[in-house]
Amino acid sequence: MTSQRTRERLIQRLSEEGISNPRVLGVIRGTPRHLFVDEALAHRAYEDTALPIGHNQTISQPFIVAHMSEVLLQAGPLDKVMEIGTGSGYQTAVLAQLVERVFSVERIKSLQDRAKERLIELNLRNVVFRWGDGCEGWPALAPYNGIIVTAVAAEVPQALLDQLAPGGRLVIPVGPAGDVQQLMLIVREENGFSRTVLGAVRFVPLLNGSIN
Ligand code: SAH
Repeated sequence: MTSQRTRERLIQRLSEEGISNPRVLGVIRGTPRHLFVDEALAHRAYEDTALPIGHNQTISQPFIVAHMSEVLLQAGPLDKVMEIGTGSGYQTAVLAQLVERVFSVERIKSLQDRAKERLIELNLRNVVFRWGDGCEGWPALAPYNGIIVTAVAAEVPQALLDQLAPGGRLVIPVGPAGDVQQLMLIVREENGFSRTVLGAVRFVPLLNGSIN
């Protein structure tokens, strides 16, 4: 079930659904998603679906990972990208192969520790991790050319806008937890921010504070 054919079917499906960036498709093809879920779920790892990873959290659906990565990269290559919500580390691993450096913030320490181990196993070394509340971003290392948030916020956290470099791109789901949410692209322009609604999505909530 984790065979090359199963993986190829996922790539086929993603391109049918509109993912067209060949680098993104190539990276998803080469990233072993079955290593990011519990062994008992490994046989479902190449289905285009979110799966539980413990602590009431989920590994994002491959289409969403591909779509968010594609939108982030649409205006050209990025060197510094901050990710809020490391979770299993799957989106982190995909990003690490598409941009120069990834700064990943997670509020649940045990999830992040496991994600770190997986990235080391895969020899992805251009990622640094921070355990903390991603609503505050990671100001010490700002600004970022790209920011990606993998949990839904009622409103876009001001700190993330503040930490966006000129021309920088923020991809974030916005809306009420458990109801219709919109994926947004926010770009820091010369005079303020432009906002584009990309479509309806469903994410777990962005929560305050950090826990073990
Ligand atoms: N991209 C991850 C998705 C994980 S689900 C993956 O594919 O595995 C969303 C993650 O966001 C969870 O791990 C959750 O703990 C984390 N999260 C929620 N609120 C957060 C916050 N304020 N700061 C950092 N991480 C947060």
